[in-house]
Amino acid sequence: MTRRIAHLDMDAFFASVELLRYPQLKGLPVVIGGGRRKIDEELLARHGERALRFIPVAEFPLLKDYVGRGVITTATYAARHFGVGSAMGLMKAAKLCPQAIVLPVDFDEIRKFSRLFKSTITEISPLVQDRGVDEVYIDFTDVPGGQREGGRVLARLIQKSIFQATGLTCSVGVAPNKLLAKMASEFNKPNGISVVHEADLQTCIWPLACRKINGIGPKAGEKLAKLNIHTIGELAAQDASFLVAHFGKATGTWMHEAAWGRDSSPVVTESEPVSMSRETTFERDLHAVRDKAELGAIFTRLCEQVAADLQRKGYVAKTIGIKLRYDDFRSVTRDQTLEQFTADAPTIRKIAGLCLKRVPLDQRLRLLGVRAATLAKAGETPFHESNTHLAQSERDSAATETIAKDQLF
Ligand SMILES: [Mg+2]
Repeated sequence: MTRRIAHLDMDAFFASVELLRYPQLKGLPVVIGGGRRKIDEELLARHGERALRFIPVAEFPLLKDYVGRGVITTATYAARHFGVGSAMGLMKAAKLCPQAIVLPVDFDEIRKFSRLFKSTITEISPLVQDRGVDEVYIDFTDVPGGQREGGRVLARLIQKSIFQATGLTCSVGVAPNKLLAKMASEFNKPNGISVVHEADLQTCIWPLACRKINGIGPKAGEKLAKLNIHTIGELAAQDASFLVAHFGKATGTWMHEAAWGRDSSPVVTESEPVSMSRETTFERDLHAVRDKAELGAIFTRLCEQVAADLQRKGYVAKTIGIKLRYDDFRSVTRDQTLEQFTADAPTIRKIAGLCLKRVPLDQRLRLLGVRAATLAKAGETPFHESNTHLAQSERDSAATETIAKDQLF
């Protein structure tokens, strides 16, 4: 069976998600960037979520009026025609396309649609590797129908299913490996499919710039240009030993292989955790009042362990919960959702403590657990900066609370 690997990339994802709520902006130049602003809150307050689609176009903020240091996350294809694109400063973009409408990123909405399109894929073709919020690799090799027309049939089915589930379009490249699939997904954007076979290397891949190889960044690209190597074909024409001499053994060898379209790295599923928790069964049943010092110490340690788990794996949580098991084996759980994401031990301890106040504590306990849920990848949450400040101020109050532990137990 030939390996068939797909790379699927959502089209202008951040912008397209906003256009679902504001269909009146379809076809117009729209850029997404900058933090949430008062003007957006006012729009929302004035018109309500359901009325968003009826806000007159003239009421939206324009790029020419933007003041600040924000950069573009995504631009619609209409805006890209003016030369604006991802990572460009908003004020610089305003010079190219002053009439573009500018909207802030809504991370909650983005995460919701990210989960939705990924779960749609997994239902059809289960071997999926995350490549960020808006792209994935999919192994078509053993999926029924995955080999038909080189993968085109399955790619079309997935594209259609994603559109039905989300209203969003994507582009798919199918190739013998991840390296070529990643390049292929760009060939027919937006809403395109392109299928690349080994035999297409010379015609489809070799004319492309070296930088199109995922892993050749601006620095390596510049160095290659100085060696008068511009296209992947020119790169393929070099002796591996020449590339090793200039880039070192690992990189040089890899570059040579990549230029020849060779990549055997597998599609690896890393399932997103739903929650992280720690619990402990006591050696003897403990009583909330009589053993409060011991219980308090265990409770704090569990919270610290959950915080450490989150931080080590790069997650933050919005819901903190507890679990208790009484000496008669009855269990209770309580949880509370925070305003902001956190991975901070004192914050988790404080919220878990509030949960604990909501359960009866007149019976002996066998087990105590702390759980963090509603997870997001750290750095992909809104207000991440202010999160740190919150954590700091929470830390102060949590410290006070540790001293006043008696109130908890
Ligand atoms: Mg994309």
